[in-house]
Amino acid sequence: MLHFFHGVMGSSKTAQLLMQRYNYQQLGLKVALVKPAIDTRAGVNVVYSRIGLEAKAEIVLDADTPVREQLAWLAVQQAHNTFQYVFVDEAQFLTESQVQELADLADTLEIYCYGLKTDFMGQFFPGSAALLRLAEDIQEVSGSLCWCGRKATMNTRVDADGNVVRTGEQVVIDNHQDFRYIGLCYRHWREGKSHA
Ligand SMILES: [Zn+2]
Repeated sequence: MLHFFHGVMGSSKTAQLLMQRYNYQQLGLKVALVKPAIDTRAGVNVVYSRIGLEAKAEIVLDADTPVREQLAWLAVQQAHNTFQYVFVDEAQFLTESQVQELADLADTLEIYCYGLKTDFMGQFFPGSAALLRLAEDIQEVSGSLCWCGRKATMNTRVDADGNVVRTGEQVVIDNHQDFRYIGLCYRHWREGKSHA
């Protein structure tokens, strides 16, 4: 089955992914940890959560190679030939065709995708839109709060001075220090208020 767990910035999605993976490993289940190639924050193959948990992705998925081939490669490399569970971090960066492939692979694998639903402009990422169409299990990872104390539902890009940025490329990874991302409630996202 293909699962999509979506949440805004600050909802501890990656921490939840890593804890779920740990629990599975403790049970002796074989899991693969992968991420799309586009996310280079914290190093190419590191799966990093803001609360400090991190792990190495076993595959950084290349968009030009079928996912099936890359998983087969991992099975050979790591004697994971019986792995049954695949965890995908930053799943919003999957391409539409990668999601389509994951949906097909999910006939025989349990695939858990964790990622953002929308970008800083409130638009779907292509990967998230495809996951919302095709995943059989869709759940929200809640817990992120706006500075006002209400539920954060919108991802917001802010510059170094804390100003809300409303234009620009959909993907600007925040390791350049020019931007960071926070979760805001809809009202404060619409008003562009990133703090009290
Ligand atoms: Zn608010």
